Amino acid sequence: MIWETSSNRNLKDQVAIVTGGANGIGAATAYTLAREGAHIVIIDLANAETIVSKINSDFPDRKVEMYDIDIQNERDVHKTVEEIANTFGRIDILVNNAGICGRKGMDETTAADWDIELSVNLKGTFLLSKAVIFTCMKEQQYGKIINISSIAGVNGGVVLSEDVGAKRSGPAYAASKGGIIALTKWVAKEVGKYGIYCNAIAPGPIATEKIEGVNVDLSSQPIGRLGRPEDISEVVTHLASPASNYLTGQIISVCGGVAIG
Ligand code: NAD
Repeated sequence: MIWETSSNRNLKDQVAIVTGGANGIGAATAYTLAREGAHIVIIDLANAETIVSKINSDFPDRKVEMYDIDIQNERDVHKTVEEIANTFGRIDILVNNAGICGRKGMDETTAADWDIELSVNLKGTFLLSKAVIFTCMKEQQYGKIINISSIAGVNGGVVLSEDVGAKRSGPAYAASKGGIIALTKWVAKEVGKYGIYCNAIAPGPIATEKIEGVNVDLSSQPIGRLGRPEDISEVVTHLASPASNYLTGQIISVCGGVAIG
């Protein structure tokens, strides 16, 4: 039998938006998607010059742009996505990666902490998804949306060794990342008929600036090391490519086995 296969990761000439692409997991994702051929648009409040220069020098035929907008601002998100669609003619991939993580316990978490984490992590994911779907993915009848959730959204957070209890991710973070999981499933059910896929990744502890100073207890983790940004970016790239064209509405835990079962 000859398989009619869609199992390739070639992203040549595709256009990918990566939020939070200036640093950490987002920068690794921008790089990995570019390596597979995609043009990259980074949306981040932070300066993305370092990763933009690296992509430009390693993959000179890829276009790379950056926009420093706040993903909480609906007007800016809409305007930016329209501009990207006009410049590139299409948007194939959206990686909703930008996020913030509070580490206060429940007693110290204020309503303001709650609002900002829910707003950046969950509302930002909603706004970008809505903008790309209705600006061009629906019309082009194709799109891949990959949301970065967290193990905290799956199981309430990784319990760290006793002495670092105060640095465990907090309740607003867990709720926002759990909300991303529900949103991923809702969107997947809504947009499959337009050829749009929506999946989420739930990373375990990944060695980025975000978890600097957090003493993660790896002794009971089956793969006993911290994750690396590229552990996530390779899975994102699979989900962004035609190799995953029968996969939608799924939450993939990339966590060294922290969350099994
Ligand atoms: P990071 O802090 O290194 O990068 C996050 C980026 O998002 C930053 O560049 C920041 O400027 C940007 N950002 C934050 N708020 C923004 C806003 N309002 N508008 C635009 N950009 C904004 O973080 P990271 O460790 O690379 O994490 C990336 C994603 O992975 C986050 O959503 C995080 O919650 C998730 N995650 C990380 C870990 C981990 O251990 N590092 C584990 C699970 C999930």
